[in-house]
Amino acid sequence: MIIVSACLAGYRCRYDGKTKQDPSIVDLVKRGQAIPVCPELFGGLPCPRTPSERTADGSGVIAKDGNDVTEAFRLGAAETLRIARLYGCTHAILKARSPSCGYGLVYDGSFSGTLRRGNGVTADLLLENGVTVEVKD
Ligand code: SF4
Repeated sequence: MIIVSACLAGYRCRYDGKTKQDPSIVDLVKRGQAIPVCPELFGGLPCPRTPSERTADGSGVIAKDGNDVTEAFRLGAAETLRIARLYGCTHAILKARSPSCGYGLVYDGSFSGTLRRGNGVTADLLLENGVTVEVKD
């Protein structure tokens, strides 16, 4: 079983209330091979919501309006890990560049569209716990 970002599976759960539906991910879910998760909703954030980015030093997450949303992102990551364990998931396919789901590159906290090396909060927690991660745009 694979963990997948719910927005890739067709859920309208992105900050702007839209989806990033990917036919190959929808197919995995339809065949019963993947579980969709949205860490930011699991963390109690609304949809739509103010966009957020990981801080430059990676220690937290800040919303574009200045609110510190680190705790919501941590809660959502923990719930995603719980679900991964519940279903025995050892692999995740997540949405690229998200402050939750991104892997390898994330926005740098300046809200200027600049990327830096790093992972989203959920991707970090999954990796620390032995789940392999890949990303899709
Ligand atoms: Fe939710 Fe992750 Fe998609 Fe953001 S990238 S909407 S946190 S599933």
